[in-house]
Amino acid sequence: HTAEENVHRLEEAVTALDTKTAELKLFKDLPLSEPTRFGLKAGHFSTLTDIQAKAIPLGLKGSDILGAAKTGSGKTLAFLVPVLENLYRSQCIGADAGLGAMIISPTRELAIQIFDVLFKIGRKGHMFAAGLIIGGKSVQEEQQALARMNIVVCTPGRILQHLSQTASFSIDALQMLVLDEADRIMDMGFQRDVDAIIEYLPKSRQTLLFSATQTKKVSDLARLSLKDPEYVSVHETA
Ligand code: ADP
Ligand code: MG
Repeated sequence: HTAEENVHRLEEAVTALDTKTAELKLFKDLPLSEPTRFGLKAGHFSTLTDIQAKAIPLGLKGSDILGAAKTGSGKTLAFLVPVLENLYRSQCIGADAGLGAMIISPTRELAIQIFDVLFKIGRKGHMFAAGLIIGGKSVQEEQQALARMNIVVCTPGRILQHLSQTASFSIDALQMLVLDEADRIMDMGFQRDVDAIIEYLPKSRQTLLFSATQTKKVSDLARLSLKDPEYVSVHETA
């Protein structure tokens, strides 16, 4: 099959996916591209966690999501799988395609963890260029790297610096924004930075917001960044 045929078949399968009644247990029950299937298998991911089973189908269909589930419940793949798949299906890949997805994390350590998972499941077969913008390199080095990225994992302060200072940084191709650990983003005082970042981004985008806890500050951020979100939360069952 040609890439176009594969994308077309996936598109149909995603459209047909029933997010209301479908009982999804395994990654292989989802309409995913071959490269992502391969990456998940290589990472020994086969069974969906609860938050993944609820959030990934909605994410694949393009919904905005407000997701809450405790630490360790598998939120990283709940947003990385839709990011990889939605960019793959829209074929915005390669050096000239521009930045398609921005994943914001409160700390450098967490950003590196997300990047490692992205690398693990995305490295084989996917042609995306992904990178980290978390400081620690010169602004100029980061600028050059950013110009080639399709997916960036970043911290709020540093990416805002690029948005406001780098004239050549084009954000027009951005389709997806992820705010991970939104409760910590707010607790660490990044509200103004995130507000300012959102001002730079295209209005017609998909936004996924994940948090370990649901707080007032998180719902404030959600109101500002999400459009008609699907609420997905996983409560512990005793
Ligand atoms: P959270 O962001 O909710 O705190 P993570 O995404 O960091 O959770 O995942 C926590 C741990 O669970 C990680 O070690 C990850 O590799 C593992 N994990 C995530 N999803 C799955 C899955 N579907 N099957 C098995 N292990 C998983
Ligand atoms: Mg996490």
